[in-house]
Amino acid sequence: MNPENQIVEIGKRLYNKNLISGYEGNISIRERNTIFITPSGVCKGYLTPEEIIKIDLKGNLIEGNKKPSSETRMHLFIYNQKKDVKAIVHAHPPVATGFACAGLGLSMSLTAETVLMFGSIPLAPYGTPSTDDLPLSLKNFLNYNAILLANHGAVTFAENVEKAYFLMEQVEHYAKITLVANILGTPQTLSCDEIDKLLEMRKKFGIEGGMPEQCIIDGEEKLYRFSKSELVNLIKGIIEELGG
Ligand SMILES: [Zn+2]
Repeated sequence: MNPENQIVEIGKRLYNKNLISGYEGNISIRERNTIFITPSGVCKGYLTPEEIIKIDLKGNLIEGNKKPSSETRMHLFIYNQKKDVKAIVHAHPPVATGFACAGLGLSMSLTAETVLMFGSIPLAPYGTPSTDDLPLSLKNFLNYNAILLANHGAVTFAENVEKAYFLMEQVEHYAKITLVANILGTPQTLSCDEIDKLLEMRKKFGIEGGMPEQCIIDGEEKLYRFSKSELVNLIKGIIEELGG
């Protein structure tokens, strides 16, 4: 499948899985020095291959009739910093974005899958969308493959667009699990010893980057827990986000 058709397919999946709504979100693929990117102001669930825009790594237009994504700067920043990244997905998954709006990353190591896949999903500080603030807010987090954007959404990147999409799907899935664990009581995180075993497995699988936050500081645990008011605000935010 060519990059244009791949982007159309991923747009449909993001929209149908409620990871974006309306005109939200953007998707790009890098092929050598060309970036294929979604246009702004259109629903990504109904894209056609002809609408996909081609730009170079400086953002100059190569081909396309529409305006490239308003978040083009963020995509270019990541591609220019991370030579191994070949695809980027940006979306506003409602539960994960709820965490980002509550000032929380998804940094608790609750499931083995998440530690294996992400290490951790940090929260980058707020940056005004479509300006240079947003890409700059990511600069300390580019060793992760998924980042929550404060008061905004999430971005994932990988060596192909299929993988970048699945990371986004998993970010939202994991946000739901974390929310439920918090609602039911005190989440029981994996111990640093258990995490170490998983990190060994990651090496064997060739997965790099992003360490779980609670094990970064020399045995001293750094865990996020919710107060009652934080949890109430979080749930309110999610209900609003879901239009309830
Ligand atoms: Zn956005």
